[in-house]
Amino acid sequence: MRYFSEKNLKKIIFASLIILVAILTSVYSTLFVVDKYWDLEDELPKIEADFIRQQKDILQYAVNLQISQIDLHRQQIKAKLKQGLKAKVHDAKAIAQNLYSKNGHKMAESDLQDLILQALRPITFYQGRGYYFVHTMNGLVKLYPSDVSFEDHLAKQVNLGDKFKVFDDLRKIVRSQDEGFLEYDWPLPGKWGDRLYKKLTYVTHFEPYNWFIGAGEYYVDFGDMTRESIVEDINNSMTLNSRDYFFVYDLHDINGGKDFATMLVNPNRPDLIGTKLSDEYQGARGKKFRKDFLAGLRDIGDAYITYWYKKPGDSQPKKKLSYFKLYPEWNWVVAKGVYLDDLEKIISSKKEKLESKVKNKLTIFAYLLCFSVIFAVIIAHYFTKGINSIFIKYKNIQEDQHRELERINKFLHKRATIDNLTELHNRQYFNERLEQEVKRLNRYNYSVSLIFFDIDFFKEVNDTFGHLAGDDVLRELAALVRSHTRQSDFLARWGGEEFVLLVVEADSGDAKKIAENICHVVAAHTFSVPRRITCSFGVTQFVPGESTIDFINRTDQGLYQAKELGRNKVVEI
Ligand code: GH3
Ligand code: MG
Ligand code: MG
Repeated sequence: MRYFSEKNLKKIIFASLIILVAILTSVYSTLFVVDKYWDLEDELPKIEADFIRQQKDILQYAVNLQISQIDLHRQQIKAKLKQGLKAKVHDAKAIAQNLYSKNGHKMAESDLQDLILQALRPITFYQGRGYYFVHTMNGLVKLYPSDVSFEDHLAKQVNLGDKFKVFDDLRKIVRSQDEGFLEYDWPLPGKWGDRLYKKLTYVTHFEPYNWFIGAGEYYVDFGDMTRESIVEDINNSMTLNSRDYFFVYDLHDINGGKDFATMLVNPNRPDLIGTKLSDEYQGARGKKFRKDFLAGLRDIGDAYITYWYKKPGDSQPKKKLSYFKLYPEWNWVVAKGVYLDDLEKIISSKKEKLESKVKNKLTIFAYLLCFSVIFAVIIAHYFTKGINSIFIKYKNIQEDQHRELERINKFLHKRATIDNLTELHNRQYFNERLEQEVKRLNRYNYSVSLIFFDIDFFKEVNDTFGHLAGDDVLRELAALVRSHTRQSDFLARWGGEEFVLLVVEADSGDAKKIAENICHVVAAHTFSVPRRITCSFGVTQFVPGESTIDFINRTDQGLYQAKELGRNKVVEI
């Protein structure tokens, strides 16, 4: 606290300004850094959510693309199949047409029809699955190599239940557009009681006999073919070390179960390809994720699932986000996943970026701090100088005022204690000194005496030479007497032309001598007025115990007697 003195004012202001600037800059820098870190903390969940959303979009896009490629592939193969079927049926028609035009005019109709049918009967295609059939437009089965027992019967009479209606549909196509495709469900050849399979058939009209000739192919066979080729395509298109690979399940039961699907594609787990899968399977952290994605597929046809799974090229399982989508045409599930450990890399790189950004800003702040402090030093220098000069100015004013006050005090003191005319002490002050002296005297026991003296016939001086000349005499007398008194004695103007001299450590005898000396000196002195000036003196020693009033009165008594005795005298009482 001693430091905070007026002397150090300049230093204090200077230091305060610099400290203030340094604190403000530091506080601002700290707030900035803290704010940036808070921003980062707010941002991290956002980054994570954005990343997940982005990954979901990418996965969905990739899976949809894969599915549309599968679909395109399927369509291409279907188109090829259609083209093939149509060509096959046209071939049959061409054969029939050729036989008819070559033999129509020379063979009996029934023989020629038989010839044509026998020509078509042995022809098979699609590894023996494909064959030609011929019906009349009246509904009579003419050729049906897969079950010859149908032949020469009306289609509606064969033991097919209501399935014969398919033949009506085929006939309708021929009648309305001469030829065309029909898709329908049909049992496999020779297995009439079994389940039905989707089949595609092409029919064309053979006008000469009002027949229609057709051939078909089961989608199962066509589908197997297609699927195999697509699975091969997908497997070939993926590199083994691809982290975000596709995987494909052939779904048998969307409700799950022990053998709910067969793994068709999975470059990460080639061991699983072709095996049946159970929905009880648990991922690396015990999650039955297959149950979860099946639930999603049942609800909306697709699902995003997060689980832990083996990562290619990594011994530890990693968190994975996968998108599963149902491809209903084949009951396939096409899926693709992404390992989320990349997210941590993204976040830590974001963090690093921010940290380096903050560091850069901190460097700027450090420079700013130095600059501010230098600037503050300059400003503070001038500011302090200005404040100090104002302070000094006010200090000088205050000192001047203080001096003036002291002067006034002195003046007032003088006015109160000094007599204006003679510059001797006045009566009031004399009384105070006398009181003090008497008190001290009672304590230390030494002698004090008092001399009272009065100018003789002073009225006449005034009357003769004027009042001002009288004043001069008073002043001259005062100076004269003062020059003949000791330093320790106390001379005062009692009033008018009466004076009093207090002499310490002097008995009445000593005081009398002093008075006589003064009496002599005055009488011998030449004053400014052409007249001899004399004084009468009363002298008394203080009697211990008496009052100051008694002491004065007794002295005054002496003076009175001196006047009585003819003046220019000393009377000791
Ligand atoms: P005595 O010898 O009996 O003392 O006669 P005296 O004339 O001196 O006495 P008196 O008391 O009759 O007169 C004193 C005079 O002193 C009257 C007055 O005008 C004069 N006086 C008192 N004070 C002053 C002063 O300050 N200046 C001047 N010039 N005269 C003063
Ligand atoms: Mg008098
Ligand atoms: Mg007188």
